[in-house]
Amino acid sequence: MKILKFGGTSLGTIENLYKVKNILDNDTDQKIVVCSAMSGVTNQLISISESVRLKNKEDIELKLGELRNKHIDIIRGLIDDHTVRNKVENFVDEVSNKILELSYLEYTEDLHSRIITYGETLLTQMFSSFLDHIGISNVLLIAEEFMWVDTIENPNIKKISKRLESILASIPKSQLYITQGFICKNANGDIDNLRRGGSDYSATIIGAALAAREIEIWTDIDGVHNNDPRYVDATYSIPYLSYSEASKLAYFGAKVLHPQTIVPVIDIDIPVVLKDTTNPDAAGTIISNKTYRQGVKGVSAKDDITGISIKSKKILKGYDFLTSIFEIFNKYQTTIDMVTTTEKSIFLTIDNPNKLIDIVNDINRLGEVTLMPHQSIICIVGESIIQDKNSHRIFEILNHISVKMISYGSSTNNISILVDSRDKIDTLRLLHKKLFLEQSEMVVL
Ligand code: ADP
Ligand code: ASP
Ligand code: MG
Repeated sequence: MKILKFGGTSLGTIENLYKVKNILDNDTDQKIVVCSAMSGVTNQLISISESVRLKNKEDIELKLGELRNKHIDIIRGLIDDHTVRNKVENFVDEVSNKILELSYLEYTEDLHSRIITYGETLLTQMFSSFLDHIGISNVLLIAEEFMWVDTIENPNIKKISKRLESILASIPKSQLYITQGFICKNANGDIDNLRRGGSDYSATIIGAALAAREIEIWTDIDGVHNNDPRYVDATYSIPYLSYSEASKLAYFGAKVLHPQTIVPVIDIDIPVVLKDTTNPDAAGTIISNKTYRQGVKGVSAKDDITGISIKSKKILKGYDFLTSIFEIFNKYQTTIDMVTTTEKSIFLTIDNPNKLIDIVNDINRLGEVTLMPHQSIICIVGESIIQDKNSHRIFEILNHISVKMISYGSSTNNISILVDSRDKIDTLRLLHKKLFLEQSEMVVL
């Protein structure tokens, strides 16, 4: 069994949907195809949810109309058989009515999480019917019936595997299954989602649950690039990445992969291959447990970081100080990304400011706190990074950029740098120049 995931960027137009159909046609393996929503649709749903929060009925109806029309236009371009077309159009109306029904409920975060899942529901029904209609038989699997994650960070793969296998055993065998990415059920049994970009994560969770042979992530670019192509020119696809390199790049902002994508497959060693829907012959990036080359491979950036600087009140001993501070982050379940310490001061970063006020109130009892909002972590990634003959060039950016923190050592595959978000793009470009464009001899160990 193979898992193929297609992102919104591959599913946004009739032309692209035909490209996806051709890719499936050319692949004879038995497979599960995980689909996102059409490009832009999750954003539309987020906007609808915002109107629900504001109780603006007029806006909700207007935006639902736009959402409906966007799907109907695609259906009319894809399906010419009237009976099939009517069936799918009715489905779009049912979903629109469902969202309208939900919009009458009291707004909560849970309701928001549910509303934004309907793009995947719409796209998969549309795409499955389209394939059927042109003679590619397939079976639609409903993600909420098996994607029962207890926590998003740590999904219960065994439970998902049991559910999915029993569903597959109870229906006629097919060469092609289609399912929704992004959608899950949480520990309360409510429909929820795996957070923005979560269809990549759905694909690897499903791959792990079924011990798939390979997971392919099809997107609008020919692999994981060595820097963020949205900000930097002349980036190129990295042919091979180890799991830990890919995890670091994803966690630290390479948008092409959801931050958690690699986690489910690391221990069971399933290759993840990134492929380009618009250029299927391009080799893409192969992510596996192998390291083909050591040294610097790529750079990524994660935004919305808050720096927290803490100076100890004199009464605490060095070891007490660290313990007491980390206990506070544990209490508020807030992950620390970077940290540097002396015996009397700590500087650390968090990416989730939800509990920041509580955290600061607690820390105030132990030390003097200074907050540094609007920071970005720039992460330079590559196995044995320090042995790369070019790695010293990372520090040349100190001549140009005001760097707030540098971290290396907890793992040998990355060096992280904290900069003000205003300096992010300059830092990415400068690092690109120093590490990839003006490189001297690369070390190959
Ligand atoms: P999909 O809809 O297929 O999930 P995404 O928009 O989530 O696609 O991810 C693909 C986009 O990620 C690319 O178009 C590119 O602009 C952006 N991106 C950011 N960093 C990287 C990187 N290091 N390598 C490749 N693409 C990247
Ligand atoms: N449709 C969802 C989003 O836009 C999930 C995904 O694209 O992976 O975030
Ligand atoms: Mg994505």
